[in-house]
Amino acid sequence: MVRLRERLARSGSPLGARLLAVLSRDHLTEADWEEIEETLLVADVGAGPSAELVDALRERVRVLGVREPGAVRELLREQLLALVDPTMDRSLATEPVMLTGEGQTGVQPAVLLVVGVNGTGKTTTIGKLARLLVAEGRSVLLGAADTFRAAAADQLATWGGRVGVPVVRSDKDGADPASVAFEALAAGREHGVDVVVVDTAGRLQNKAGLMDELGKIGRVLSRQAPISEVLLVLDATTGQNGLTQARVFAEVAGVTGIVLTKLDGTAKGGIVVAVQRELGVPVKLVGLGEGPDDLAEFDPEAFVDGILG
Ligand code: GDP
Repeated sequence: MVRLRERLARSGSPLGARLLAVLSRDHLTEADWEEIEETLLVADVGAGPSAELVDALRERVRVLGVREPGAVRELLREQLLALVDPTMDRSLATEPVMLTGEGQTGVQPAVLLVVGVNGTGKTTTIGKLARLLVAEGRSVLLGAADTFRAAAADQLATWGGRVGVPVVRSDKDGADPASVAFEALAAGREHGVDVVVVDTAGRLQNKAGLMDELGKIGRVLSRQAPISEVLLVLDATTGQNGLTQARVFAEVAGVTGIVLTKLDGTAKGGIVVAVQRELGVPVKLVGLGEGPDDLAEFDPEAFVDGILG
């Protein structure tokens, strides 16, 4: 994932620059270690993981007697990588599903349900994801189950046109989101499509309402076919607020993967660590801009190297 590495390095990655500036000092004092911890906090790594990293790094520097900045940097790289957790399975389940059970037989499209608060970049992400899947040779159909905002379906339709995939939407405002999701899956099945990606509304004012709506979409879809992924879209620039949202969606929707958007416009890449810790779910994709090609699979090594420059 060279692209992610290059893009993060190009964005200046102040986190890496600051850390490396401290680490290049000859002898690390108490104040230096505090500065390292503060740098991690400012980058939204979160209090627990930041303290953990500094403790572990300090201990290793001490035990190994490492002084030379290059060697300390290598230890920092290892610790950062451990925090991002390279062992998590980040693959996206986009294979069509073979069903053999009673009532459900034959090949079904993989169903990807995309959830998240409005403004986080959900619709844009779906457009970019469709593009990525098409480039991998998959046929894709989009379902506009965010029926609450009339503009949402229009925006999805625009993305569908841009990346060349069909969009199923309701012709009336305020239609039942679950029935649009159902229609999308039915159309996907009828046309032998590999992947159906369903957009959902992102109102968070009322947790019960959200739970009802996402719950109903989930039930209606899973009666037809298993849901392969529930992707939660989070805006990397929203920091700890984003985490609060994430918690609600994780409770309501059974999230299987996180898409972290707007990573191009922030020095707060540490949120990757915080959100994975919080939800126990991997970041699978990252948004790196507004264009159709600005979505990348998340690669922990490339991410850490990008941060360190
Ligand atoms: P939704 O309301 O969640 O569907 O959000 P939209 O898809 O409409 O996106 C909201 C704004 O964020 C738009 O201006 C997008 O172009 C922008 N956006 C989405 N993803 C990214 C990203 O990865 N990087 C940047 N810089 N902007 C993004």
